Formats: sequence, C-alpha cells, structure tokens
Amino acid sequence: MDEDLVKLVKEHTFGTWKVQKTWNPLNVDKAEGVYFYANGKKILDFSSQLVNVNLGYGNKEVIKSIEDQLENLQYISPAFATEVRARAVKSLLEVMPSNLTKFFFSTSGTEANEAAIKIARFYKSPSYKILSRYRSYHGSTLGSLALTGDYRRWYAEPNVAPGVVKIPEPYCYRCPFKLKYPECNLACVNYVDYVIKNEGNVAGVIVEPITGTNGVIVPPKEYLPTLRKITRENDVLLITDEVMTGWGRVGEWFAVNLWGVQPDILTTAKGASASYVPIGITAVSKEIADFFEDKMFAHGHTFEAHPVSLSAIPAVIEEYKRMNLLAHVKAMGSYLGERLKELKERHKSIGDVRGVGLFWAIEFVKDEKQTPFGTYEDKYEGRVTEVDILAKKLLDEGVYVFNGPSWLVISPPLIIKKEEIDEGIEKLDEKIKYLDEKFSS
Ligand code: PMP
Repeated sequence: MDEDLVKLVKEHTFGTWKVQKTWNPLNVDKAEGVYFYANGKKILDFSSQLVNVNLGYGNKEVIKSIEDQLENLQYISPAFATEVRARAVKSLLEVMPSNLTKFFFSTSGTEANEAAIKIARFYKSPSYKILSRYRSYHGSTLGSLALTGDYRRWYAEPNVAPGVVKIPEPYCYRCPFKLKYPECNLACVNYVDYVIKNEGNVAGVIVEPITGTNGVIVPPKEYLPTLRKITRENDVLLITDEVMTGWGRVGEWFAVNLWGVQPDILTTAKGASASYVPIGITAVSKEIADFFEDKMFAHGHTFEAHPVSLSAIPAVIEEYKRMNLLAHVKAMGSYLGERLKELKERHKSIGDVRGVGLFWAIEFVKDEKQTPFGTYEDKYEGRVTEVDILAKKLLDEGVYVFNGPSWLVISPPLIIKKEEIDEGIEKLDEKIKYLDEKFSS
C-alpha cells in the first residue's frame, strides 16, 4: 500500500513550490512530541515543519478543545456570534500588543496578509502603495505574492496585484549597501524614509520583524523602532507579518515585543492553533477599527471565523501559560544558540549563525568570499543544491530540517528538551562535514 499511496499523492496532487518531477514525498502516518514517523522511521522535527507545529504533536488539551467544539457546533456563518469566537477574542486580547483591538479570522497566513493589504488600502485611500522587502515571504495569492520577495517576485504584474514597491532588508551578513553595522547608521531603514517620500501614495510598509523563510534575518536592535518612527512621521501604516515569528517562537508572544514596537496591523497564523487546524488572524488598531464603523468592511470568506479553528486559540494560549513556555523558549533558545555557535567554530562551510529564541539559521558558504551554495534561482529551475543534499542526508539520519538554497532553518517545537536539542546538534555536526569537503579555501 505504501508505494501506491505515495504514487497516488505524487501523481494527482501538486507538490507546492517544487518542479514537480523533483518532488519525492515520504509517507508520514504518525507523530508524537517532537518526533514524526516517515516511512516508519522516527524523525526529530528540528524545524516544527514549516516553523508552525509550535506545541509539537499530540497536545491533548488542544485536541480536546477542538473535539469539544466539533461535538457542539461544527459550523455557523461568520455573521453570527458564538461562544467560541468570544473566548478566542478574550484570550487574544491578553497576548496581542495592547493597541490591537479588532481581529479578522481567516484560515492561513496568506489570507491574513491579503486582508491586511485591503484594510490598509481602504484606510489610507487614495494612497495604495505597499512597501515590502526583497527578501521576504508573505504568501502565494496574487496580493500576498506581490509582497513576497525572493525568486517568487519573478511572477510580475499582471500576474500579481499591482502597487507593491520593494525595499532592502537589514541583512548585515550580506549588506545590500555593502556597509558594516553600526557605522552604517542603519542605511537600510533610513532608505525607507527616502522611498516613502519619493514614491508618494504609500499606504503601508509590511515587514517580517525577523525574516523567516529567507534565512532568519535578525535586524539590528534599532531597525524596527526606527521603522516605526519613520512610518509615523510619514503617516503610513506599519504592518508586521508575525506568521512565523509569533506565538513564542522568539521567547515573546510576538517578535515586536522584543523591541517594544506597536504595529498598526499585525498578521499571524501557524502557531495560533499550534497548526492543529487552519487559522489566520489579521489584528488591527483601534483607530483602524473605528474607521470602519460607518464604512463597509468589504471582505470575508465562508470559512472565516470557523468555530473549529477558533476553538484551538484559547487552548493554545492556556497551554503556553501552563507550561510557562515563553521562559522555556528563552532558556532552550540560548542553549540552542550556544550549540550552533560552537558548530560555526568547527565547520568552515558555516558562514553565519543567527537567531533569537528557538528561531535560528545556519547559512553555508562555499569559499572565503561568502559565495552561497545556491540561490532561489536554482530552486526555481529544479536544481538540487549542496544544502538540499545536506538536508536529505540529515533526514536519512533521522533529523528533519527545513532548508533554503544555502541555509538551514533550525526552529524546533517550543516544547523541545535539552537532550533533544543535543540529538539534533550531534547529527548536524556529523553531516555538515559533507559541506566542509566542498569548501574551497
Ligand atoms: N508570512 C510569513 C512570514 C510566512 O512565513 C508564511 C508561510 N511560511 C506566510 C506568510 C504564508 O502563510 P500560509 O502558508 O499559512 O499561507
């Protein structure tokens, strides 16, 4: 059956973001804690899948909350009020930045960002331009894809929504301005002020507080507060995409808390339901909420505010509190960070190690000039990079790591224990030798 099953899946469903013939999925049939089983083999999930299975697998409380909701009320149009919707809102108000008081519930990060763009454009009309960064991932529908940077921006207008302008990222390891921090005086963020003023008609700026898919790019500490100041001075909205960085990933409920910043709109998904059911959330400030009091909120889906999705939210928040998970992430995060930095000392192919909490990247280089092992262009063309091979070797060894063309994203479930971190690090240490052999000095 196993072979037929994989064949059926591969032949008749799309492998997303893949050249189809390069997709060779493994069969996963169960998971527990920080492990899942692929083709019967136990695998340590060192990335929480796509940085989303934050509570690991099999959390009984979250499952129970979803089951209870299914027993009680499976669906009702979003036009009605429900107890579960009230409970979800009450618990969200406790953990969201305090200025964000109204929520739109959807079913993915992509939709959360689509809603954010529309809200920003309604609110700031006639201004409509949205600034987003070259290295970013915000989703795959026409609006969110227009925001997305990396190779996916090759889908140009008219195949993506118009009105998005790209800005540089705070990527100190490969500074777009070829400057060094702190002498750079934050050229990357100051440039945003210049773009806003020269473009005109800018409604908002959207950023991942810490860039995720594109290699866990942690900005210098002044970056986000400065961006907040610039957006305020220019009267444009700051939208933070916390689809990956939210829900304790960085040791805070949301990454904006690391810098004491309050965005006008915050989008999130993934960890909000621990990924047990689909969820997307667009949170807006009271000013924006008030604006719609006498205007139509021209947006919505049949599955919006789905009771089963909402039922996960209060249970997830309760579980974080019960396990004191934010403190656990801080402790385990500094341990993981130390261990990854030790790897950098030992392996010449590691160019950079960076991260916060349980959100880290190892960026590999093939020579002293910091040449990457591959780019998104390789992925787009279906070429296998050496880092893809490393990820495959790790999987064969029982460790799953989500990878980019030249980096690994190390972001285990937030419940991970020290011994489990050690297990992952030891296997990384062994397998990275493969890339050291490819390094030319
Ligand atoms: N924004 C960010 C920062 C993301 O990382 C992702 C998904 N990786 C998305 C948006 C899109 O979320 P989804 O896949 O749930 O649509």
